[in-house]
Amino acid sequence: MKAMIISVGKELLLGDIDNTNEVYIARELRQMGVEVVKQITLNDELNSLKKEFHGAIQEVDLLVVSGGLGPTEDDITKEALGQALNLDLIFNEDLYADFVEERRKLGREITSNVKKQFYTIQGSNSLINHWGSAPGEHLFFKECHIFLLPGPPYELRNMFLNYVKDFIKTRDLIEVRSLSIVNLGESQVESIIRQRFHIPKLEVNTYAQNNLVEVKLLSQGQDQKKIKEKLDQAEKVLTELFKGNIYSFQGQDLRTRVVKLCREKNIKISFAESITGGFLAKTITSCSGASHILKYSLVSYSNEVKHRELGVSQKTLDCYGAVSRETALEMSRGLYEKGYCDLAIATTGEAGPCPAEKKVGTVFVSFYSKEKQLVQEFCFSGDRKEIQEQTVNQVLFLLLKEFLEG
Ligand code: ATP
Repeated sequence: MKAMIISVGKELLLGDIDNTNEVYIARELRQMGVEVVKQITLNDELNSLKKEFHGAIQEVDLLVVSGGLGPTEDDITKEALGQALNLDLIFNEDLYADFVEERRKLGREITSNVKKQFYTIQGSNSLINHWGSAPGEHLFFKECHIFLLPGPPYELRNMFLNYVKDFIKTRDLIEVRSLSIVNLGESQVESIIRQRFHIPKLEVNTYAQNNLVEVKLLSQGQDQKKIKEKLDQAEKVLTELFKGNIYSFQGQDLRTRVVKLCREKNIKISFAESITGGFLAKTITSCSGASHILKYSLVSYSNEVKHRELGVSQKTLDCYGAVSRETALEMSRGLYEKGYCDLAIATTGEAGPCPAEKKVGTVFVSFYSKEKQLVQEFCFSGDRKEIQEQTVNQVLFLLLKEFLEG
């Protein structure tokens, strides 16, 4: 199924508001296996709307239009579509009567211009808007399903979920799975998939953010059993290919997995953060349940604090520098010895942009528990924020692999 999204509204073209509806619709459609081939943003201008509507129905099987269904003069989406398809607008008495009744019950006033919203295109089905006032419409015209949805994002999302999604679901069975990979670039992941993964009629997409890549698998058809078998097989092959780098299935993010497993295993953690400057603590505390696992976090940015609060020896700092394996280890040991946690984690590194002690992107992370100590060195690239993000992802990944799983 091919789809097009048309967003209507001058404020979108002026950049006064972000086109969040378009992003939302595109993501939802992709999840359902619908290919979005075009997105257009238009002014509330009759001729350009007519022209694009006319073109769209020749090009796609599904057209989703957002905005321009309200009561004001510039809300002309229905008029434009009606004219583009040579269909009349008809006043829908019943729909209007229901609306009036509902508003009366709520004690709300009804302005005269609201009536405009209850004109519907000949042959269309009205979609009642329980989340606002302007109804939507569904029209099937020349092999194209057209959905008109109101612009306010809360209304649009609910209307989309209740009408468009339901409509697509009933046509084909679709299942999506995802697999999250750390420490491999998107191009690396893609090239491995291209060369070594051959499962017909299965859509595979990759999405990257820093050192994380999400692989989405989508299978669709009429036979639920076949869909499941295909996805199971794909998951098995990908698990083999990316064994050491997979951190989750079904899109559960790293921090959520870490918090969940720490809770299950009753492990309390603490951070001594130099390069990450509190980012680790922020990442963990943004997860519900964090209070059960995070005991303490210290932003130990200066050498003085590393020395006085964490007991990193002056000799270590002088001989090896703050960004070193030795300092990282002493930071995590000092933190562990404070007695707050079962596992102490320290980060130190060069976030740049100007190199100080070591090459920009050099990072040491250290873990210290009663049973196991670990220090690892990394060399990340990117700007400050990207280097910090990669460090956080790496810490969480190591925590998962070395201390929580298995
Ligand atoms: P109503 O006028 O009854 O609210 P409508 O369908 O006419 O419904 P618009 O007038 O086009 O909707 O938009 C109403 C508001 O919804 C806009 O001012 C804007 O805040 C928001 N909006 C519209 N389109 C989008 C969009 N594509 N993305 C995000 N927000 C949007």
